[in-house]
Amino acid sequence: TPLSTPDLHALVEGVYADLAPFRGEGAVADYIPQLARVDPQSFGLAVATTGGDVITAGDALAPFSIQSVSKVFTLALALGKWGDGLWKRVGREPSGTAFNSIVQLEQEKGIPRNPFINAGAIVVTDSLLAGHQPREALGEILRFLHFLADDESIVVDQAVARSEQATGFRNQALANYMRAFGNLHHPVDLTLGVYFHQCAIAMSCAQLAKAGLFLANAGRLITGGSVVSRERARRINALMLTCGHYDASGDFAYRVGLPGKSGVGGGILAIVPGQAAIAVWSPGLNANGNSALGTRALELLAQRTGWSVFGG
Ligand code: GLN
Repeated sequence: TPLSTPDLHALVEGVYADLAPFRGEGAVADYIPQLARVDPQSFGLAVATTGGDVITAGDALAPFSIQSVSKVFTLALALGKWGDGLWKRVGREPSGTAFNSIVQLEQEKGIPRNPFINAGAIVVTDSLLAGHQPREALGEILRFLHFLADDESIVVDQAVARSEQATGFRNQALANYMRAFGNLHHPVDLTLGVYFHQCAIAMSCAQLAKAGLFLANAGRLITGGSVVSRERARRINALMLTCGHYDASGDFAYRVGLPGKSGVGGGILAIVPGQAAIAVWSPGLNANGNSALGTRALELLAQRTGWSVFGG
């Protein structure tokens, strides 16, 4: 049975209060100065329920760089465009390697393990470029987020996008390597241009939780209207659970027990099927590049709500 709104309010407040003393935990991403500049003390939580409540605590309304959380939304768009044909170009297995790893690409002939590591997400973005200019593909991603979050104010942080572009040597290597195998269909700089801009989209926890809610609601908006089929929502959730935290996906499942997708900006989107979408943000990262305090917050919230998909 779903928790009552007041109970859930108290739980969210409680998790925030219990963990606020640990703000600043972990190391803020510093591969570009624009991310390193963020206040390491930031900490926000938002829970959007299928009943229509949005419960927030801390810095839940402050926009942050969503980074790899964007990969969930581009995957949903690409599956809409290509259906299961997408799986010819990207796999569905956890990689057991870091988010930006290149090692598997040689043996696996340029087919990345899953859509949530960088290589896989770059393929997914490349697939969205078919028949489009980069500007149009990015527009499609932004419009999708506006529609899902019911909020047209969501934009790209251009300074973050520019410095991703200026320093993205590793992503360029991944993209060029896959292009050599024929698994990128557009010039590398066009595909990466869109990829860097999608990573640089800024959203708050409240916006992110609302945008992810269709995955908790059998693929539908809570106001009605289908986003993806029930089956597709279930499958995206399965991929988030198995692959959403890179080589720490097993640990996240063990500790939190929910489908989740992290980003190097310190955000995590987690899905409670049937109940809620949760977004947390704390910029300090653990060794695997996932939000340290964000993971702790989800762990505590899942424990106290009994929301783990593996049993309460
Ligand atoms: N922009 C980052 C990159 O491509 C995103 C990675 C992440 O959030 N883990 O390296």
